[in-house]
Amino acid sequence: MSIGGIEAGGTRWTCAVGGGSEVERIESFPTTTPAATLGRAIEFFAAVPDLEAVGVGAFGPVEVNRSSPRWGTITTTPKPGWRDTDVVAPLAAALGVPIALDTDVNAAAVGEWTYGAARGLDSFVYLTVGTGIGGGAFVHGRPVHGLLHPEIGHMLVPHDRRRDPFPGSCPFHGDCLEGLASGTALRERWGRPGEELDDPQVWELEAEYLGLGLANVVLVLAAERIVLGGGVGSAPGLLPRIRARLREALAGYLDSPRLAAAGIDAYLVAPALGPRAGVIGAIELARAAP
Ligand code: ZN
Repeated sequence: MSIGGIEAGGTRWTCAVGGGSEVERIESFPTTTPAATLGRAIEFFAAVPDLEAVGVGAFGPVEVNRSSPRWGTITTTPKPGWRDTDVVAPLAAALGVPIALDTDVNAAAVGEWTYGAARGLDSFVYLTVGTGIGGGAFVHGRPVHGLLHPEIGHMLVPHDRRRDPFPGSCPFHGDCLEGLASGTALRERWGRPGEELDDPQVWELEAEYLGLGLANVVLVLAAERIVLGGGVGSAPGLLPRIRARLREALAGYLDSPRLAAAGIDAYLVAPALGPRAGVIGAIELARAAP
């Protein structure tokens, strides 16, 4: 029997089969139209013998409440063509197996919690900074849902418009955290993509916003660890800068050795599973599904 997983991201979808921290038959392709992208995933899993279940970690916002009639639907996404797209029903209909669903970041968080940098922690937050900013929160060993799911990337952070006049890139909020610190924001503010930017001023500002955002995360959730990934989040030298800004924003108020100078390197960490965290977590979602 085989368990499948899909990291259904806004930029790429990755399909794989496997168990544990190992995956097999992995295939990754760009996210194009809903019909073509879902079709490619269906084609991938149709060729897997004895497929038992598939877990999906979808970009969002996506309805993850199983009792809602809109369960499995990507809702208010700004991504062209994907608004109100049901990503679960076509997979279930074509493959005839149970489908488990969570957000792409929650799936990655599940992967890191099960096999990676957050193994066994009671509470932690996984933040991915790429084209957008997404966050998955674990509390009491489970991903937090509730009203839809947390949208950590869209929290509001202080923005000094005299120092940084960039109005922000979020189509909903302008200068929310994603609007100020995502890869999209970097490209729009500085005119070039993040990987071409080596001015320390760029990365100091980036670290400032992420440090402020993470301070809010720590203050709200008392997370025991933060795992920070994504294309921008993994930029060389960024983590130490964010650690410093996070400590500065907290200003010594939270008296924990994990947030002290000697503990912070183990508190704010890179993902251990790398870019496979999402698909490994998606497989895990299907395995753990009732
Ligand atoms: Zn926003």
